[in-house]
Amino acid sequence: MRIIMLLLTALVFLLIPSCRSSYVGSVVSVECHNAPSAYYIDDSLKIRLINSVCPGYAFKKERLLDYLEYFVIGYSSEFEIDEYKVWDLISNLKIETSVIPRKMPNVYDVKGNFLKSSPVAGLALSPNWIWIEIKTKFICHTALAHELVHIIIWRTQKVHADPDHEGTEFSGWTKKHTRLIKRVNSQLCELGI
Ligand SMILES: [Zn+2]
Repeated sequence: MRIIMLLLTALVFLLIPSCRSSYVGSVVSVECHNAPSAYYIDDSLKIRLINSVCPGYAFKKERLLDYLEYFVIGYSSEFEIDEYKVWDLISNLKIETSVIPRKMPNVYDVKGNFLKSSPVAGLALSPNWIWIEIKTKFICHTALAHELVHIIIWRTQKVHADPDHEGTEFSGWTKKHTRLIKRVNSQLCELGI
């Protein structure tokens, strides 16, 4: 009996660290009375989070910061750019979230194929503003990393965000960007972010 108790205790200790390393969702419902709520997730980053409709859903501040940190580390090592420079390229950004899907005319898929109209999971609306559809309770299932890449390209090249991705009409986006997004999201899904 004592051996069983000892084994159970050891098992509990083994289980606790693995529970601590993962989260149970990164989305919160937002109750508001008049207008959608907006707030900065961090004073120095100046990243403002706003939900399109009220009441609605938004990312949890701490989870979003964890997500961004993974993205920045991944981008920095993939493209050999200092982390502080990547943080700088995604700062001063408005991230708008909504559970209501959108459909857009004249868009391109990731391979550069032109589509007259298509549902979109995210949009880079200006160099300082992205819109993201929230589909599940995890940020890794959203288009956030994809839109952050558009913002980095837009702010670096100044003229456009490379709307046709891997296509050849606009420049900037490479297969490396597509692979990075997949890798970052799959690692973050494993962490439950
Ligand atoms: Zn895109």
